[in-house]
Amino acid sequence: MKEKIEVIKDICIGCTICVKNCPFDAIKMEEKKAIIDLEKCTLCGACVPVCPPKAIVIQEKKADGTRDLTKYKGVMIFAEQKRGDIQSVSFELLGKGRELADKLGEKLIAILIGGKDIADQAKELISRGADKVIVVENEKLEAFLDESYSKILGRIISQEKPAIFLAGATAIGRSLIPRTAVEIYAGLTADCTSLDIDPETRELQQTRPAFGGNIMATILTPNHRPQMATVRHKVMKEAEPQDGRKGEVIIIEALSNELINRTKVEKFVEEEESTVNISEADIIVSGGRGMKGPENFKIIEDLALELGGAVGSSRAAVDAGWMPYSHQVGQTGKTVQPKVYIACGISGAIQHQVGMRSADIIVAINKDPHAPIFEIADYGIVGDVFEVVPKLTKKFQALNK
Ligand code: FAD
Ligand code: SF4
Ligand code: SF4
Repeated sequence: MKEKIEVIKDICIGCTICVKNCPFDAIKMEEKKAIIDLEKCTLCGACVPVCPPKAIVIQEKKADGTRDLTKYKGVMIFAEQKRGDIQSVSFELLGKGRELADKLGEKLIAILIGGKDIADQAKELISRGADKVIVVENEKLEAFLDESYSKILGRIISQEKPAIFLAGATAIGRSLIPRTAVEIYAGLTADCTSLDIDPETRELQQTRPAFGGNIMATILTPNHRPQMATVRHKVMKEAEPQDGRKGEVIIIEALSNELINRTKVEKFVEEEESTVNISEADIIVSGGRGMKGPENFKIIEDLALELGGAVGSSRAAVDAGWMPYSHQVGQTGKTVQPKVYIACGISGAIQHQVGMRSADIIVAINKDPHAPIFEIADYGIVGDVFEVVPKLTKKFQALNK
């Protein structure tokens, strides 16, 4: 699928703004008209919105009109499942997807791909906000396989033409959705933490941390559809099930070429975690560099166990090899949304905060009263973790007796 770009000479006023805005040095002026060097042009589109008289147009060469933006309607989400269980990130996508679809006055569609009987799960998606669920079930699709899933998703997106496509920025989403974007020749805004609709243009505003988390960038997709984004797990609220909600379920077959894979799943090995998985935990006790060594995480684990919670960690503790990566909270770790987050010996760098600041209650224990974690903490204890944490554990042990 190719596009072409052209300058409509009669409209060009020779202002040279496009020349200055082309990141690839692909535009030059000849006889006071802009000329685009097609060898250099990457079709990035940067010159299109800056041209005052709108003299630059990017068109699709294909005659089927798939890039006619007006043909793209509604919001579509990828309903992620693992071994037949819909993952909670899918409910978060339904919550946000419903809100966006309502703002557009359009439909919310969920795509569910899986093994035999996965269609049974479609009603759950409808009860949580989907107007239509497209199911592809086949025993060969029981386990997630990049190649099959991306081909199927690509085909359905091309047929249904959603204006917006959302998936979770989970391990599966991070592998599947870039491949799918390539299948349908679309861009992708990965790892969004906020999504909204611009009331004037009706475009999707895709917000995500940029420059090491120091700024939040809002990204638009003005010249292309679908607007594809992956969304961080636990940043958005899950849609609640509503009794009696009605919707349409469509079951479609996988095509034979979609079932061919160069990889096969041999077996699943569950990750061993000493306590609860941090993504799902209601209480997380996290340790940072202030724990001084791996052996001292025992006091964090003791408190987490007493509270029925999970053990989290800052990146500094993971990089030091004190904790496995699966426990890391933050920009390059997991985003968590527990009821209570207890940060022990963690300074509260912005990259850590983006992963935990939506916790309902934040408790910080740090010996430095100026540590940034105290700026977002609901309860702050200025003190030594090696004194405070065991005391807290003892107190809860006494209460739990
Ligand atoms: P420090 O910043 O060294 O803080 C240790 C704290 O412990 C200090 O505040 C100190 O006062 C306190 N302390 C020391 N001893 C005691 C004691 N006995 N009792 C009480 N308090 C004590 N970080 C993440 O956490 N998650 C991420 O996902 C992440 N992603 C990143 C991505 C990028 C691109 C970059 C550049 C950085 C990222 N970081 C991430 C790193 C981040 O910038 C910080 O370096 C890191 O969070 C610091 O970890 P820390 O708070 O444990 O360590
Ligand atoms: Fe330059 Fe991008 Fe315009 Fe091509 S589309 S001319 S690369 S700004
Ligand atoms: Fe011509 Fe538009 Fe480029 Fe100005 S910005 S030179 S009007 S094509």
